[in-house]
Amino acid sequence: MATRTPLIAGNWKLHKDCAESVAFAHELKSAIGADTDVDVMVAPTFTALYPVCEALKGSPIAVAAQDMFWESKGAWTGEISAEMIRSCGCTHVIIGHSERRQYFGETDETVNAKLKSALEAGLVPVVCIGETDEERKQGKTFEVLDTQVKMGLKGLSAEELASVVLAYEPVWAIGTGNTATPDMVQEVHAFLRKSVADSLQKELANAMRILYGGSVKSGNIAELMALEDVDGALVGGASLDTESFSGIVRYKR
Ligand code: PEP
Repeated sequence: MATRTPLIAGNWKLHKDCAESVAFAHELKSAIGADTDVDVMVAPTFTALYPVCEALKGSPIAVAAQDMFWESKGAWTGEISAEMIRSCGCTHVIIGHSERRQYFGETDETVNAKLKSALEAGLVPVVCIGETDEERKQGKTFEVLDTQVKMGLKGLSAEELASVVLAYEPVWAIGTGNTATPDMVQEVHAFLRKSVADSLQKELANAMRILYGGSVKSGNIAELMALEDVDGALVGGASLDTESFSGIVRYKR
């Protein structure tokens, strides 16, 4: 049985300017301290990546971008490459968040292109997948997730897949206060691990970290983390203040 170190990741979305992000990073650094029993990651806005990486030097908190482009350079006004993200000091990147899929035309194909570019640059990708409310009501949850996994992770070598983190985020649970029930979460996570095992490799599937995201808070994290196939959380709203995010990080204590 593979040991999977839990990852607690905070997605700051379109919140906090540079000064606010740096001040918050300093607060988190002292609240979380030098020793954590889980991996911790925060994803500020692009403009705050470099100063937040500088502020978090010497702390176990890793920094991620919330998105990236798949090309490394060229005439792509407004885009940011994996190498640029890496050069800020980031080690991780979120790819395919449902808000990117819903509002900015992200598809499984663009997720796959971004994923390959992130891996080439040495970033750990946190790949988000999840069904909408309508898809769940129509009984299409597993079909949708299976496609997102197979298309999103297509063409990666075993070595590349080994650093991929999956985040299951049911769209209907994001920012709504409606957390999926523990039974729903475990059912989907076990399905995802099996889907990776069947289509890719059993060993990899056992080692792959699968995070849950969708209205996670300090009050429900312990229950979610007790589930066999949950290896961490991707947290939006509750990652925006020190007390609630450090409470989630310290769920074991
Ligand atoms: C998210 O944006 O990835 C998320 C899970 O948000 P929230 O925790 O606010 O539901």
